[in-house]
Amino acid sequence: MFKALVLQQDDHQTVAQLQQIDEASLPNENIEVAVEYSSLNYKDGLAITGKGRVVRSFPMVPGIDFSGTVTVSSDKRFKTGDKVVLTGHGVGEKHWGGMAEKAKVSADWLVPLVDGLDTKQAMKIGTAGLTSMLSIMALEEAGLKPEQGEVLVTGASGGVGSVAITLLHALGYDVVALTGRIENSRSLETLGASRVISRDEMLLDNKPLDKQLWAGVIDTVGSHILAKALSQTQYGGAIAACGMAAGIDLPTTVMPFILRGVTLVGIDSVYCPYARRIQAWQRLAKLLPESFFEQACEQITLDQVPDYAEKILQGQVKGRLVINI
Ligand code: NDP
Repeated sequence: MFKALVLQQDDHQTVAQLQQIDEASLPNENIEVAVEYSSLNYKDGLAITGKGRVVRSFPMVPGIDFSGTVTVSSDKRFKTGDKVVLTGHGVGEKHWGGMAEKAKVSADWLVPLVDGLDTKQAMKIGTAGLTSMLSIMALEEAGLKPEQGEVLVTGASGGVGSVAITLLHALGYDVVALTGRIENSRSLETLGASRVISRDEMLLDNKPLDKQLWAGVIDTVGSHILAKALSQTQYGGAIAACGMAAGIDLPTTVMPFILRGVTLVGIDSVYCPYARRIQAWQRLAKLLPESFFEQACEQITLDQVPDYAEKILQGQVKGRLVINI
């Protein structure tokens, strides 16, 4: 038997409970992992509260990411004792996920833990941090360089936002943090933001083309804020759109694209190809300072997860939440 957080449907409501599960119920996949850490991402919040249609079948073990040690392998790419990391691939949505002492997954979904990180640090980064790195890689490929001007990060206090600020700062960018919680300004500056602006300021009148402020943008929230960021992006600048914390709509015009040559790049971490994942993890291991792991991450336990799932959807979580399994 092993301990897991289990989601069930009861009268169309999702109910999350800690349970002891028989090992025989684990999915029929080729790698078994003793999970050491998982993390709580926005998508986990949607899955655990049932507020998003993230989970397709019940019972489901949530947890879109985890790190741990291989205990059984019938795939030659991994052997017993290997330290591994899993993010995405529908785990915690379609396949049983990381919020359990044991997981059985396909070898295709795993990556080896890269040098320079331990399993706890890997989950302090987690899906959110991987997404931040992928967003920066996309902006670099669109031509972004530090000398071109300020880079805006929206949803700055959240998981993706806080890692993005830290990474951009480490790469020499001048970072502006956008937040609805201006009281977090001090910690955003400690992470590396050179200035902080309030969400209310950003939501003032929305013109198709506004003053050209940003050389690049990492947007984690979508909707009116992404529209405003597009209208304020410099000629030839680029935006990486990776999130929807404010909404899935995008009330914009074609003007930033056809008059300023702005590029809007979509970011998906779930099915990101293996080679790009490894490249992103290697860069994360090199770029994130020790101070990030100490200052921007909080550790919680499995039984605290349902409460924190509500909090993350209400925008009340700061930085990253690592779950000590
Ligand atoms: P968090 O909840 O940790 O952070 C989201 C942040 O957005 C909040 O901290 C808050 O920051 C801001 N925010 C919350 N509600 C609103 C709102 N109504 N309007 C404007 N801003 C708001 O989530 P994550 O960082 O884990 O994820 C951020 C987004 O990225 C989510 O939408 C998630 O689904 C998406 N995502 C996408 C991935 C991909 O592969 N494309 C992978 C991982 C995440 P503040 O208080 O500073 O304003």
